[in-house]
Amino acid sequence: MKMIPQSSPKASYLAHREAIGQAVARVLDSGWYILGSETRAFEEEFAGYLGVRHAIGVANGTDAVALALRACGVGEGMQVATVAHTAIATIAAIEMAGGRPMFVDIDAATYGMDPEKLDATLAAHPGQIGAVVLVHLYGRPADVRAIASICDRHGVALIEDCAQAHGATVAGRRVGTWGRAAAFSFYPTKNLGALGDGGAVATSEDAVAERLRLLRQYGWKERNNSLIAGVNSRLDELQAAILRVKLPALDAENSARRRIAGRYTELLQGTGLHLPGLDEGHVFHQYVIRSAQRTALIDDLRRAGIETAIHYPIPAHLQAAYRGRCGVGSGGLGVTERIVGEILSLPMFPQLPEVDAERVGGAVREGATRV
Ligand SMILES: *Cc1c(COP(=O)(O)O)cnc(C)c1O
Repeated sequence: MKMIPQSSPKASYLAHREAIGQAVARVLDSGWYILGSETRAFEEEFAGYLGVRHAIGVANGTDAVALALRACGVGEGMQVATVAHTAIATIAAIEMAGGRPMFVDIDAATYGMDPEKLDATLAAHPGQIGAVVLVHLYGRPADVRAIASICDRHGVALIEDCAQAHGATVAGRRVGTWGRAAAFSFYPTKNLGALGDGGAVATSEDAVAERLRLLRQYGWKERNNSLIAGVNSRLDELQAAILRVKLPALDAENSARRRIAGRYTELLQGTGLHLPGLDEGHVFHQYVIRSAQRTALIDDLRRAGIETAIHYPIPAHLQAAYRGRCGVGSGGLGVTERIVGEILSLPMFPQLPEVDAERVGGAVREGATRV
């Protein structure tokens, strides 16, 4: 039996194989491999797609979060509010920037930060929290309008972590345009994926963009003359050229993800499983269900030739590296701790054939109604 994978960066490559081959050959033949015309062109095209003034290519999504924070003035010892239910990269990036994570609980419907708990947390720590990193997890936009107005009211910088939400929208406006800056990852499995590492920061503030361009390359405006202390975090020409092939297909691929999500939801109605909302603007980086019998369901699906994943099994504040040394926001982390034992990500990628989606939906339905 053919195993249905949970994600497939190879299928994404094969869907654009010829154009990627040509783009790669063009870069190889150009003799210019770092920060050149491909990166500049991609930065312009990506900024135009989002509707921001600037996009700055960097080496990966973790650096994108860290450098966005630094460019917005977050530095050594400052507290940064974020969620514990996210890729650990979000937390690593806050610490790379010198920040100290303060975890705020999530909303069980959006899996994003709970605005009321953020408001209470900021009120309880006046002047101590320098920024909020808002993650749009699974491609489902968090309640960014509420969060942005809370950040405004408290005078705190909002940084969006859009690593799982390329192309997602709120009220017709893309995520990544709501805060002072937004971080994107182009890790191969993301909705917009390179064939290696890559990332970008989006911003409409000229001064933040200028600082990012310095920070990503040793603080250089001109070669060999550092104006500020920077790092090496560059998007390379090969990845930029590949991303230029894939960007024009992003909206269609997000629609394909939404079609698969719609089919799953039809097939899983009435099973008692908790299903994700099919909200407008959700780009389904993952389709995540919740089941009280998760372990049995995973085993059933594996026997049926279906791979699943858990994003993420252990919240940041319970992992050895962070336990006991990060702040916890008002109201505690009860929702985070409750849902991590039940979440399960079904196969989800734009090239997943319809027959496979049917097979997945049928097997989950069967598993859920039996256990
Ligand atoms: C993937 C991811 C990142 C980090 O991206 P990398 O390119 O792997 O460094 C950051 N935040 C979230 C939410 C992610 O999913």
